[in-house]
Amino acid sequence: MYIPEEKISDILNTADIVDVISESVILKKSGRNFFGLCPFHSEKTPSFSVNPSKQIFYCFGCSAGGNVLSYTMKYHGITFPEAAKMLAHKYQITIETKAISPGKRNQLNLKEGLLRLNKTIMGVYFDGLKNSKQGEKARQYLQRRGISDEIIQTFKLGFSQDSWDAIVTVLKRQKISRKVAVQSGLILERKSNNGYYDRFRNRIMFPIFDVNMQVAGFGGRVMDDAMPKYMNSPETPVYTKSRILYGLHAAKQFCRQEGFVYIVEGYFDFLSLYQHGIKNTVASLGTALTSDHVRMLKGYASRMVLVFDSDAAGINAAKRSIEIFMKEGVDTRILVLPEGNDPDSYMVKHGQDAFNDLASRARTVMQFLLQVAIDTHGLSVEGRIRILEEMKPHLSLIRDSALRSLYVKELAETLNIDEKAVLEKVREQYLKQDTRTAGLMNEKPDQAKLASDRREEQLISMMLNYPEILDEIKRRDVLAYFYSEKLKRIGKKIISVDPDTTAFITNVMAKMDTNEDQALIASYAMNDIVSEQDMHQTALVIINRIIRVRTKQENTLTTKIISAEKGCDAELMELLKQKQAEIQQLQNRL
Ligand SMILES: [Zn+2]
Repeated sequence: MYIPEEKISDILNTADIVDVISESVILKKSGRNFFGLCPFHSEKTPSFSVNPSKQIFYCFGCSAGGNVLSYTMKYHGITFPEAAKMLAHKYQITIETKAISPGKRNQLNLKEGLLRLNKTIMGVYFDGLKNSKQGEKARQYLQRRGISDEIIQTFKLGFSQDSWDAIVTVLKRQKISRKVAVQSGLILERKSNNGYYDRFRNRIMFPIFDVNMQVAGFGGRVMDDAMPKYMNSPETPVYTKSRILYGLHAAKQFCRQEGFVYIVEGYFDFLSLYQHGIKNTVASLGTALTSDHVRMLKGYASRMVLVFDSDAAGINAAKRSIEIFMKEGVDTRILVLPEGNDPDSYMVKHGQDAFNDLASRARTVMQFLLQVAIDTHGLSVEGRIRILEEMKPHLSLIRDSALRSLYVKELAETLNIDEKAVLEKVREQYLKQDTRTAGLMNEKPDQAKLASDRREEQLISMMLNYPEILDEIKRRDVLAYFYSEKLKRIGKKIISVDPDTTAFITNVMAKMDTNEDQALIASYAMNDIVSEQDMHQTALVIINRIIRVRTKQENTLTTKIISAEKGCDAELMELLKQKQAEIQQLQNRL
């Protein structure tokens, strides 16, 4: 379903955010804002605020924020068009579907068709498990593995018949388009080109939900030693493996409550933990974790605990995943289970308390890597040198200098090597990696970045609260002087909205592509420390400062390069050019 942009504006201009949120949160007025207990994280004192004049909400506790549409989506766990429809209905706005290009229409139809088909087939598999004669062995299998009926119900587990055409027949009977059916991967074309057959046969079926509770795909597991043990749907327009984590739709609220998330590998690991009350868990389903996964999870939890088996495969998987997490800068712990256990078997044998106890002793990434290195190389003189070689690239990846020196110290103590020698090795590594990171060791650019970020954020905040300034910003092309690419991108979207529209902020928000950007807009919009009458003056001061700082920094370098060229100081010139390139690179990354 596609909703025309002007209808979205209608909804945003008509719906009242206080009215809508009051249906689910008790709000009390305080000053210009309303406050209540946040529905997105657990808290005892209200930090969830709603601003009626800006028509936005923002939680100072968990940074959730947005307009009435994003609230409706988030609260009910529904998609954007669904939320728009819901609000349109409440405010009696009729949505007639606008003519869209045939290409886009086909694409939307295909996606909707796939989701509908998956939902139908989920029902068929679910019924196959509950009621079919063949399903008996699957019911017994799940019982043997200790999976409760409640879990089967919650996660809609199913069974695919031991047949080549059970699904093919359903699809024919229901007159489902062949194109959609083949795209879904539920059926495959026979090599001889005469018809189709079922992909999943004689397997326990796990529907894979996306965050909005829609069935994106399926996983199937055999009940004996047949191969392949697991089989998943192929990638489709509604199922991108690098962006879906099994169980997140159910776990997200618990991740928010607990502030951290366990990441396990398999379906049964997930289900077993969930059933035993450890609900802040997701499963990676054996695919390598990506930075998309990590970024998604960051929206729900600030700490992530990777749970692995203690066998060689588990240790290697842990080592592979670590770099992604470190690059994303999240607090990551590694929980390696005692030998011979996976999360499922451990849970069944020892229960929730034992697991929690074990989890409380999960290692930091550095402690984990060090232990693995010691186990591999031993603590002989040669062993210790190897360990140091192995550890230095990891250490040089740590951006926080205080944390880094802590680990350097720990490593020096464990290996009984002089701390200075370890530091020297890490520094070597920096220089080897690239000159950019070497520049970062010097804390100065970070300071400059902080100051420029603050100014740019302040200006964004004023653009939202005082749209009268937008003309000036366009005229002087202020955004071109921004260091932060992220803020520049947001700024460009803000100036693309007509400053005279009612519900300006919430219309800006509608332009943002991600929830994260929407929440950012909400936080900047709430941040209006300057009084109305001082707005204009303050904005001008900030604009001038942004332009001046950038121009000056670039001029200083250019002047130096020119004078070096004149004096023919080749070495100095090389150095300066390198410096300029470094700064350029740094800016590109900010
Ligand atoms: Zn919150």
